[in-house]
Amino acid sequence: MKRLLVIASAVLAMCVQAQTYPSKPISIVVPFAAGGPTDRVARDLAEAIRKPLGGVSIIIDNVAGAGGSIGAAKVARATPDGYTLLLHHIGMATMPALYRTLPFKVESDFEYLGLINDVPMTLIGRPTLPAKNYKELVTWIGQNKGKINLGNAGLGAASHLCGLMFQSALQTDMTTVPYKGTAPAMTDLMGGQIDLMCDQTTNTTQQIEGKKVIAYAVTSSKPLHTPALKDLPTLQSLGLKDFEVSIWHGLYAPKGTPADVTSKLNAALKVALKDPDFIKKQEALGAVVVTDKRVEPAEHKKFVAAEIVKWGPLIKAAGVYAD
Ligand code: ASP
Repeated sequence: MKRLLVIASAVLAMCVQAQTYPSKPISIVVPFAAGGPTDRVARDLAEAIRKPLGGVSIIIDNVAGAGGSIGAAKVARATPDGYTLLLHHIGMATMPALYRTLPFKVESDFEYLGLINDVPMTLIGRPTLPAKNYKELVTWIGQNKGKINLGNAGLGAASHLCGLMFQSALQTDMTTVPYKGTAPAMTDLMGGQIDLMCDQTTNTTQQIEGKKVIAYAVTSSKPLHTPALKDLPTLQSLGLKDFEVSIWHGLYAPKGTPADVTSKLNAALKVALKDPDFIKKQEALGAVVVTDKRVEPAEHKKFVAAEIVKWGPLIKAAGVYAD
C-alpha cells in the first residue's frame, strides 16, 4: 500500500510538472564555442522558441571541446526534466564513427525533438593567401605540401568532416589545427595564423561579405541564393565529383524526459520554425529552415540514423579515430 502511494505521488508529481512546464529557465547546451555557427543558430532559435514556451528565459550554455562530444555527454547525463536541452549538428551522426569510445549513445540516450535547419559550408582562406580563386588554390596547395594548416572545431565537428573530405578529394594531407569551435578558428584565420577552413555559412557569410577571408567555393550541390554567396562556385562544378556536405542542426533532450514535456517542446519548435524573423535571419546566413517532416521527432531520429549509415563508412575509410 505504502509503495503504491509512493508510485502514485511520483506519477502525480510528473503530471503536475508537465502541466506547469516550463516554470523556470531552460538551458540549451551548445557543444561549441560562443560566437560560432552552432551558437548563432541556438541564439536565434532561443529568441524564437521562448514566445511559444510562454516567454520563459533561455540560457545558452557553451560546453565546448572534443568536437562537440563533451556538451552532448553533459546533456545525456542531465536530469530528464526538460530544463536541459542540446542543440547539435551533423556531429551527432559523425561522432559514432570517429570516436572509439563515446560517453553516450546517439540513438538511445536522447529524446529527439525535431530538426531545425540545413546549412551548407564554404571553403575559405586567410586574407593574405596568394591564391585568389579555386584554381589558384589548387596550384598553391600543390606547391605547399606539408606546410598547410587547416583549422577545425575538433574531431567530429562539421569543419573536421568537410576538411577530411576535401583532403581526400585532393589526395593531399594538411596539418589540422583543432579549436573549441570555429569562432576562435575564424579569428586565427582572419589573423593569418592558419591557412584554410571549411565552415558553415552561418559563420562565414559576414566575413566573406566584409572581405575578411577569401571564399573559394560552397559545399552544396547547387549555388546559393544568399547575396554574399551567390557567385561562389560549388566544389562539384570545380571538378570534385560528388562533393556535397550539408550540415543540419537538431534539438534534443535527455532520454526519459516526460512525453508531455517533449511534445510541448516539439510544438514550440514548430512555431519557432515558422517565425518570419527567425527564417529571415537564417536565410541571410545561407541556412534553410526545415519545413519538411524531419521536424517530427520520429522522422528526426530516422534521419539521424540514416546519416550515421551514410557517413560511417566514409569516415572509417579515411582511417581517422579519436579515443
Ligand atoms: N562550425 C563548427 C564545426 O565545425 C562548430 C561551431 O563552432 O559551431 O562543427
